[in-house]
Amino acid sequence: MLDFQTPIQFLKGVGNNYLKKFKKIGIETVKDLLFYFPFRYEDFSVIKKINQLILNEVVTIEGKILEIKTFKTWRKKFFITEAIIEDDTAPIKIIWFNQPFLTKNLKRGDLISVAGKLIEDKNGVYFSPSHYEKITDFDSEERRETSGLIPVYSETEGLTSRALRFFIKQCLKQTRIPNDWLPSYIRQKYHFPDLKTALKQIHFPKNITEAEVARKRFLFEDLFILELTILKQKQQLKQYKGFLIKANLDSLKKFSESLNFQLTNDQKQAVVDILKDLQKGKPMNRLLQGDVGSGKTIVAAIAALMTVENNYQVAFMAPTEILSEQHFQTFSRLFKDFEINIGLITSNKTKISWNGLISEIKRKDFLRDCQQQKINIIIGTHSLIQKDVKFKNLGLVIIDEQHRFGVEQRKELLKSKTDFIPHLLSMTATPIPRTLALTLWGDLDISSIKELPKNRKPIITKIVSPQQREKVYQFIKDQIQQGRQVFVICPLINDSEKLEVKSVLKEYEKLQNQIFPEFKVMYLHGKMKTQEKEEIMQKFLKNEINILVSTSVVEVGIDVPNASIMLIEGADRFGLAQLYQFRGRVGRGPHQSYCFLFTESNSQNTLKRLKALITAKNSFELAEKDLELRGPGEFLGTRQSGMPDNLMMALKNLSLVQIAKNEAELILQNDPELKNYPLIKKVFEQKKEILELIH
Ligand code: ADP
Ligand code: MG
Repeated sequence: MLDFQTPIQFLKGVGNNYLKKFKKIGIETVKDLLFYFPFRYEDFSVIKKINQLILNEVVTIEGKILEIKTFKTWRKKFFITEAIIEDDTAPIKIIWFNQPFLTKNLKRGDLISVAGKLIEDKNGVYFSPSHYEKITDFDSEERRETSGLIPVYSETEGLTSRALRFFIKQCLKQTRIPNDWLPSYIRQKYHFPDLKTALKQIHFPKNITEAEVARKRFLFEDLFILELTILKQKQQLKQYKGFLIKANLDSLKKFSESLNFQLTNDQKQAVVDILKDLQKGKPMNRLLQGDVGSGKTIVAAIAALMTVENNYQVAFMAPTEILSEQHFQTFSRLFKDFEINIGLITSNKTKISWNGLISEIKRKDFLRDCQQQKINIIIGTHSLIQKDVKFKNLGLVIIDEQHRFGVEQRKELLKSKTDFIPHLLSMTATPIPRTLALTLWGDLDISSIKELPKNRKPIITKIVSPQQREKVYQFIKDQIQQGRQVFVICPLINDSEKLEVKSVLKEYEKLQNQIFPEFKVMYLHGKMKTQEKEEIMQKFLKNEINILVSTSVVEVGIDVPNASIMLIEGADRFGLAQLYQFRGRVGRGPHQSYCFLFTESNSQNTLKRLKALITAKNSFELAEKDLELRGPGEFLGTRQSGMPDNLMMALKNLSLVQIAKNEAELILQNDPELKNYPLIKKVFEQKKEILELIH
C-alpha cells in the first residue's frame, strides 16, 4: 500500500529519469501526483460499432486485428502502419503514420480499442487513431486510454499525459486515502463527493458532470481554507492594539506646501483614510491601490511623516534593491526640510540621509542607530525584517508590492511581548476588482487612487501586426538616436522558465545582431542572480544600455524616466492588467512615450481585448474587464501575486467564494480554535503560510 507521503520513486515504473521530470513539475510524493489535476479531458465517451461510423466524428471502436503491417513509403521517407480490425458488424482500415514500432506491440489476433475518427483523404477512407490500447476482452474495466473522458495534463518534456495517466491510475488503486478533512455536513449540504471519490473522479470521470463536481469540491477546499485564514487573521488582529498616531496639521501643511504640485482628490482621500485609521488605537490594515505613477509614494510619505511626528519609527519595505534605493532617494528629497533621519538597508548597503544629505554608514552603526531610534524612517529590502535589525519604537510598516505580510510578521518586528502591533499600509499597482475584494475579504480597508496626476501625457499605444514590424523598428531607431531607451518584453511561455530564458536570449541575439547592431542591447531573465540583475538595471538606469530585453518577470515599479518605449512581443498571451503594468514602466519622464503590442494573432477577440488597453480609462476598469474575460488568474498575473494557480481558478467562481466564506464564518463562530475539527486545523496550519496574502 502507498500513502500520501510515499515518495514518488516507490511507484512502479518510476526510475531516475521520471523522477527528475516529476521533480521539475514539483511532484515528489504520491499526494503531489494525485493533486496534479488534468486541465481538460478528451471526450472518447462515444463507443460505436464499426458499421455505424460517420466521417469526422470522434469515437472509440473496438475490434480484433485481422492483419497489420508496417512499410516505408517509397517517395517520402516515413513509415506507415496499416491494420484491418473487425468487430461483429464490419471490418475497417486503420492507418498510423510514423510509428514503426507499433508492430512490435500489436499483432494479428490482438483485441484493441481505438479512439479517433473516420476520415477520407488521398489514402482513401480509413480510421485515424489518436489513442489505442490493447484490451483483454470487449468489456474490460481497463480501457481508460481510449474510452470515456481521457484526462489531459500539463506536460513537461518526456512526461506525457499518457505516462501521467499510467502513474496516477496506479496511485489511485494502491493509495490509502486519508480521512476526509472536509466535514460531512458540508459535503452533504453542497453535494460534494468525499476525498477518495473526488480524486478518482477528477482524474477519470465517467462524464463531464462528475469531473466538474469533483473539481468544485477541490476549489471549495482551497477557498474555505483561504477564508479561514482571512477570518482568523481578522480575529487575531482584533486582539491587538495599535499605537495612537495623531495628525499633525502644521507639518502636514508644511509638507504639502513643499511639493511643487497639488495632491489629486484620490490622493487626498487616501490620506484622510489613513490618518483616520492611525488615530483609532487599533492596528491599521490598509491596502493602497493605484496605477503605476498614480502617486502612492507621496501618500505613504505623509503617513510616515505623521508617524515620525508622533515619535514612532517607520519601516518601509520594497521588493528589490533598486526600488529601495529609489524610495530612499525620494524620501530624502521630500524630507530635506524636516528634522528626519532616513536610513537605507539592503543586503550589502547601509546609508543614511539627513536634511537631504546622503552618506554611507557602517552596518554596525546603522543597526545601533536604528535600535536607538536615531533613524526615524528605515527603508529597505527584506533585509529590513532580519533578526539583527531592531527598532526601538516601530509604529508603522509600509510595504510596496509585496503581498505576503501577516500579523505574525508584524508582531515579530516589534520583538516585544506587548499586545501592540505596528500599523500596516500595503501598496500595490495591481488592483483587485471591487466585486472580488468584497466577496473575498468583506471589509478589507482599501483606498484607491484612480485618477492620474494632471500633467501626465497619455502613452501612445499601438497594436502592431507582423507586416508593420519593420516600420516600428525604424521608428525605434529614430527614438534611440534622440536618446530614448526601450524595454522589450518577450512572450509568456507556458509557465516554462527554461523556454522563456531561451526566447529572451534568442530575441536578444536577433535584436543585437540583425536589427539594432549599432546600439547596445542587453537582456534580463528570472534565472539570473539578483546581483547580476541589479547591475544591469543600474546600467539601464544610467543609459549605458539602449534596449533591454526581458521576460515578464522583471522588477515591478522600476522608474527609468528616460525609457519611453515599451515593446511587447506576443502581447496576446498576457492578461490586460499585466500589459497595463508593462506599459506603466514608460511615460515617467518628460518625453512622449509609446507602447507597441506585437501580435501575430488576427482573431477578432484578441484584437478586441488588446484594444481595451487603448480605450480603458484606468487599470481598475481593465481589471474588471479582465476578470470578466479571462478570470482572476490572468488579471492578477499569477506569478506576481504569488497565489497558487488553482486558487486563482477558484476565485473566478464568486458564488463559490461566497459559500466558502459563509461556511468558514459559521465554523469559527462556534469554534474559534477549531477544537472540534482537528483535521481542518491540521490542513489549515499547513496551508496558511501560502495564503497569507495581503494582510
Ligand atoms: P507610484 O504610485 O507608482 O508609486 P509615485 O508615487 O512614484 O507613483 O509617483 C510617480 C511620480 O508622480 C513621482 O515623480 C511623483 O512625484 C509624481 N506625483 C505624485 N503625485 C502627484 C500629483 N498629485 N501631481 C503631480 N505629480 C505627482
Ligand atoms: Mg511606486
